[in-house]
Amino acid sequence: MPTAPYVTRFAPSPTGALHLGNARTAFFNDLAARASGGRMVLRIEDTDAERSEDALLVKLLEDLRWLGLEWAEGPDVGGAHGPYRQSERGAHYARAIESLEAQGRVYPCFCSPEELKLSRKAQLAAGRPPRYAGTCATLPAAEVARRVEAGAKPALRFRVPPGRVIEFDDLIHGPQRFASDDIGDFVIRRADGSVAFFLGNAVDDAEMGITLVLRGDDHLANTPRQIMLLEALAMPVPRYGHLPLLLGHGGSPLSKREGAASLGDLRAQGYLPGALRNYLVRL
Ligand code: GLU
Repeated sequence: MPTAPYVTRFAPSPTGALHLGNARTAFFNDLAARASGGRMVLRIEDTDAERSEDALLVKLLEDLRWLGLEWAEGPDVGGAHGPYRQSERGAHYARAIESLEAQGRVYPCFCSPEELKLSRKAQLAAGRPPRYAGTCATLPAAEVARRVEAGAKPALRFRVPPGRVIEFDDLIHGPQRFASDDIGDFVIRRADGSVAFFLGNAVDDAEMGITLVLRGDDHLANTPRQIMLLEALAMPVPRYGHLPLLLGHGGSPLSKREGAASLGDLRAQGYLPGALRNYLVRL
């Protein structure tokens, strides 16, 4: 278990009911905070306006409380690092993006989803790992201005520095090394103006003073991107630990969309919160 007083966080997206996999991640963050004499922050990642629902947020808070978890800061309890809903943090992301723009670390990308799909297919067919081909990386400023004037709405991509090795010591997996040359320039702001996961998540961790991020293994490959962003922004990089995902009977990770039992279902079936906690911590 951790030794430093860790500030941890649970950062769910309110797009479905909590299942045991999400609950386990939340529980480990709660335990790491308590065991180290630190605290947990609850942050709501609701930038996907189409899929996020307020009713789901209310249910999510209720389920977490029922499970017995506690957070020192969050949308319902407030705190010094709010707001705690990403949909209300646009000004924070705009500041970060301005700083990246001033350093020339980002560029507008006009590629359509169809073009990106074709490029991906071509790379896979050639036996190469798919990543952004850099089509818009060197567009002259005049051409960018012309397209914007013509009404095009570009996304914004982070210019991944070539030839770098990004290293971090994962609390669960141990030392990790990623070559920046394997990582394509990635989107930090979508064409519709909304902030993309990589940026919002990393900036919030830094600005909320998070020192330990415990999250699912599905985010391990995102970590080098987030470290590069935080370094470019001269923001602190938290410690990361990636937990194995819980699998369903079919062998694929539990997911709300695949109909995994929600905490609410288990509660209705009569499971006690203490029994679930005991089960989750022993898996
Ligand atoms: N909103 C993200 C998710 O639910 C958070 C990932 C993270 O914990 O960094 O997967």
